[in-house]
Amino acid sequence: MANKTIEVLHERCMGAGNCVEVAPDFFDQDPMDGTVILLHPQVAPGDEAVVEKAANVCPVAAIILHSAAS
Ligand code: SF4
Repeated sequence: MANKTIEVLHERCMGAGNCVEVAPDFFDQDPMDGTVILLHPQVAPGDEAVVEKAANVCPVAAIILHSAAS
């Protein structure tokens, strides 16, 4: 099964940090302005739920989960 990939719309991010709380293996925050840093764009099937949850708690919908082209 193909892995999904994460896209972050950085210009939308307002540094709320919700994604980092939910999925710290995938997201970090810039120490200067608090905006999101994507650590791992590739999502293994077993990690999809936590990344979807992180996308859902982002108040500005800056996290998009893509199905990888096979
Ligand atoms: S939850 Fe959304 S707004 Fe907050 S840091 Fe993550 S991407 Fe940015």
